[in-house]
Amino acid sequence: MNIHEYQGKEILRNFGVAVPNGRVAYTVDEAVEAAQALGTDVTVVKAQIHAGGRGKAGGVKVAKKLDEVRTYAEEILGKTLVTHQTGPEGKEVKRLLIEEGCDIQKEYYVGVVLDRATSKVVMMASEEGGTEIEEVAEKTPEKIFKEVIDPVVGLSPYQARRLAFNINIPQETLSKAVKFMMGLYEVFVKKDCSIAEINPLVTTGEGDVLALDAKFNFDDNALFRQKDIVNYRDLDEEDPKEIEASKYDLSYISLDGNIGCMVNGAGLAMSTMDIIKHYGGDPANFLDVGGGATAEKVTEAFKIILSDSNVKGIFVNIFGGIMKCDVIAEGVVEATKQVGLSIPLVVRLEGTNVDLGKKILSESGLNITAAESMADGAEKIVSLVK
Ligand code: ADP
Ligand code: MG
Repeated sequence: MNIHEYQGKEILRNFGVAVPNGRVAYTVDEAVEAAQALGTDVTVVKAQIHAGGRGKAGGVKVAKKLDEVRTYAEEILGKTLVTHQTGPEGKEVKRLLIEEGCDIQKEYYVGVVLDRATSKVVMMASEEGGTEIEEVAEKTPEKIFKEVIDPVVGLSPYQARRLAFNINIPQETLSKAVKFMMGLYEVFVKKDCSIAEINPLVTTGEGDVLALDAKFNFDDNALFRQKDIVNYRDLDEEDPKEIEASKYDLSYISLDGNIGCMVNGAGLAMSTMDIIKHYGGDPANFLDVGGGATAEKVTEAFKIILSDSNVKGIFVNIFGGIMKCDVIAEGVVEATKQVGLSIPLVVRLEGTNVDLGKKILSESGLNITAAESMADGAEKIVSLVK
């Protein structure tokens, strides 16, 4: 799960990690009030969307007067920001962070991630802050320093000092940078993050070390014990189809293609997408209905696929193991009864209760193309969609 920058900064503040003063605003008037309340000479108006690259896209503006805060808030609120992380369709800005302007001396990067290779948490830092870290990693990897953290001991002060030293944090602010890193690591562990990224971390003219940006991602499997994080969820930032799918505990991810897929098992779902690609098609989604799905769950899954206007054809690829083919067939029939079906549907069923499943489908009167194998099905749906 992702959260907004202002929410991330709230968490950081609670853990004693320094961030600039700021307030969230949902309207232009709130933005101006927030700036008045801050009472600083320089105020920064920042678009709050679940994507980075806002600065370059015009989503971060520095205001020197209250009038400018109003102008920028009017300009940014309601605007669809297109950044390198939003995709070409962009994201509509519905919230702003009105923040104290900061006298930046230098921008750095600090990030915490889980390294799957070592199965440990790693803190990374670079003096190339503000820019995209992927770019630094590609062009000047020697400018990224890493500390692998022992899960029992946690981040040791000497490791934080070594990082701060390596990225050339000035001597006089070194201890503040160490405190910052220790706090950031604590947030990462206590809040079950999968990413905690501060880009940029800055040193200021007043000799402070502050987080000017905050990007957090939380492990969905830990949300049951992170109720305060769940409260930060902003459904406006999520795909409505994915929200619907999460209500029914379906693993659904929407993609940009036009062939809807209903599959059981994550592995089969992945290979189904691959084989569609192999025959020159593009999947519209990843969907794993799971092992023990009920007809109701399958119905909802099928309805979600049908609600996607990009979908021009559907491929149902089921290997009945724990999942029974007749349950899938019932779900497909029920969903099409409820919402209709005007696009091609190719079904490949195999395994438990396959004959019963095929019978239900053939007696349903639906226009279904049966497939003999996964490859046959993929080939058929690709040609039908074309
Ligand atoms: P993004 O990464 O989405 O572009 P950031 O929050 O990193 O957004 O902001 C982009 C840039 O804007 C920062 O690198 C920094 O130079 C500047 N900036 C952001 N917040 C402030 C602030 N409070 N005071 C001064 N400059 C800021
Ligand atoms: Mg940033």
